[in-house]
Amino acid sequence: GLPAMPPPVLAPRRKSRKIKVGTVDVGGDAPVSVQSMTTTLTSDVNSTLQQIAELTAAGCDIVRVACPSQDDADALPEIAQHSQIPVIADIHFQPKYVFAAIDAGCAAVRVNPGNIRKFDDQVGAIAKAAADAGVSLRIGVNAGSLDKRLLEKYGKATPEALVESAVWEASLFEEHDFHDFKISVKHNDPVVMVQAYEMLAERGDWPLHLGVTEAGPAFQGTIKSSVAFGHLLAKGIGDTIRVSLSAPPVEEVKVGLQILQSLNLRERKLEIVSCPSCGRAQVDVYTLAEEVTAGLDGLEVPLRVAVMGCVVNGPGEAREADLGVASGNGKGQIFVKGEVIKTVPESKIVETLIAEAMRIAEGMETT
Ligand code: SF4
Repeated sequence: GLPAMPPPVLAPRRKSRKIKVGTVDVGGDAPVSVQSMTTTLTSDVNSTLQQIAELTAAGCDIVRVACPSQDDADALPEIAQHSQIPVIADIHFQPKYVFAAIDAGCAAVRVNPGNIRKFDDQVGAIAKAAADAGVSLRIGVNAGSLDKRLLEKYGKATPEALVESAVWEASLFEEHDFHDFKISVKHNDPVVMVQAYEMLAERGDWPLHLGVTEAGPAFQGTIKSSVAFGHLLAKGIGDTIRVSLSAPPVEEVKVGLQILQSLNLRERKLEIVSCPSCGRAQVDVYTLAEEVTAGLDGLEVPLRVAVMGCVVNGPGEAREADLGVASGNGKGQIFVKGEVIKTVPESKIVETLIAEAMRIAEGMETT
């Protein structure tokens, strides 16, 4: 038959050039990728590789590791070799670590333009080493480490200051005919951040790495990043994203993937459609939704499961989903693809939904 129509997106992607971060394409028509950063000491190779494995399992596409010391630089070859996903070395001050990261087999290096003046005479050498090794770079402009000259000119890290820094830094590499880099202009204020990326998107075809820096603890950071990324991605701006949270990095990946799925930039996996509950509810919706979510954790198939508290909107939503329950009078009507397949007592709702979800998932995996 005809191939299924892809789900709608809010805007076409901005045309950016494509670069490689190891095996992952960034920019152009490549899917928007999700990044995170390890929190272990990079020099602790085993812990770092363990965390990278967890990030990989959570769906992370690219991982970044900090490299503030020689011990960290020394650990890079082993990390780059054993990581299942491309590794980016994050380097702030020392050009020598940039060369070490390239030699170590890292897929990319992030450099900080607030400090890069010290690189000035080395920009050409960095560009050449990166080009020879097929390594890409990220110019990481950050409000907190903006060049002094620009801070004086603008008074603070305004969108204009961030963009001027980025464009100037890009020109330093472009003068050496090096183009394999992406750019970020991060700020902790989503409004400033969005303005900076919108401005930057107009100035060139560089692939853009989105980030709200120091976004905060999980709840606040999730919302700040979702609002800012959502605004930009909905306009087609953004080629790779990193959600920064003061929380375990696996949480950053989950949030990042969920943002992309919400905008149909990634295939939606498990989606629980549950009602907020109200005075009409005849069942404890929160507990029911939580138990179903927990029971289906890790299910890697696109499945929409509706958990509804009563029969007002319940049957309608449950019918629209792949699978659902509408509760009432101590019972649950279980729907599969719009058909009531059975009615079970309240105590059996969770196990019945989980069993049906597994059955549907098996069918999906084999077709
Ligand atoms: Fe209330 Fe029923 Fe709607 Fe849930 S489905 S919010 S219980 S009316």
